[in-house]
Amino acid sequence: MAKDEPGANIAELIRPLRVKPGSRVNLARDFDPAYKLAGLTKKESAGLLRTGIAMLADYQARLAAQDTYGVLVCLQALDAGGKDGTIRHVMSGVNPQGVQVSSFKVPSAEELDHDYLWRYARRLPARGDIAIFNRSHYEEVLVVRVHPDNLDREKLPPACKGKGVWERRYREINDWERYLTDNGIKVVKLFLNLSREEQRVRFLKRIDLPEKNWKFSAADARERERWDDYQVAFSQMLSATSTAWAPWYVIPADRKWFARICAAAVIAQTLIDIDPHYPQLGKEERRQLLEVKAELEAQAPKGAPADPFAARSRVSAP
Ligand code: AMP
Ligand code: MG
Repeated sequence: MAKDEPGANIAELIRPLRVKPGSRVNLARDFDPAYKLAGLTKKESAGLLRTGIAMLADYQARLAAQDTYGVLVCLQALDAGGKDGTIRHVMSGVNPQGVQVSSFKVPSAEELDHDYLWRYARRLPARGDIAIFNRSHYEEVLVVRVHPDNLDREKLPPACKGKGVWERRYREINDWERYLTDNGIKVVKLFLNLSREEQRVRFLKRIDLPEKNWKFSAADARERERWDDYQVAFSQMLSATSTAWAPWYVIPADRKWFARICAAAVIAQTLIDIDPHYPQLGKEERRQLLEVKAELEAQAPKGAPADPFAARSRVSAP
């Protein structure tokens, strides 16, 4: 892509965030939660985000009209990482009819009665749609790994949950995502990378502001005590499941405004790559349209233009 083409800046912005397939990630060493583009200020960022949001709206309309590809956006983060705010801001311009958000919590009894990917598979996007997973199937190698009692509750046969279960899950997830990609469902994976100190500040804000209290629970503080275990689980997950067909992007999350720009950019890049188009009519369909147009024009009341819309907007015939 030429440097001044739309999308060139987006590609440049997200390149350092991409986890190279096959690389061994050490989160603390390789990705700085406070990283931002040199010189970019919060003030300037508002215009950039607006551009990104407008792009997403335009592309989503074409994605829906083309009805061939679906897009699955997986958002992972620790508590207070900014998943909710990212969804609210980044998707604020898109037509709600084409977007479904699913939040995954502690699995229900019904969900535990199925294989572990079942509940995620039920929420996949249809062609033309964007599905957002607020937490995703990756919880199955994160919280379930850090707290193995979750695995016990999943009712697996004993032979299926012993040694090697996490490596097996990585493989199964990679295979599943490959299957989806091969069948027109693009998988976008965003990991919001928050620092321990910024999480502390955001937890305090949730405690200090009454209208934020509902977002905080003592369990969140207990999870924070397992910080190091989560960092290891994240690093291994990023190493094992960043693939050519569904790479991970590590979004620096300490500055919410920059995280949102990055998230919008990665999703926009996916849509740019898909390059959806409004369907073009075939010869016969065009002929039929023109026939109906002539009939409608013939019904114009006396004194009214035959085609008021064309007269107003000077569009040419289809
Ligand atoms: P929140 O997103 O803050 O509403 O919290 C949802 C909770 O559900 C988090 O504590 C997650 O760790 C937990 N959770 C999500 N997926 C799973 C899973 N597959 N197994 C166990 N717990 C999960
Ligand atoms: Mg929570």
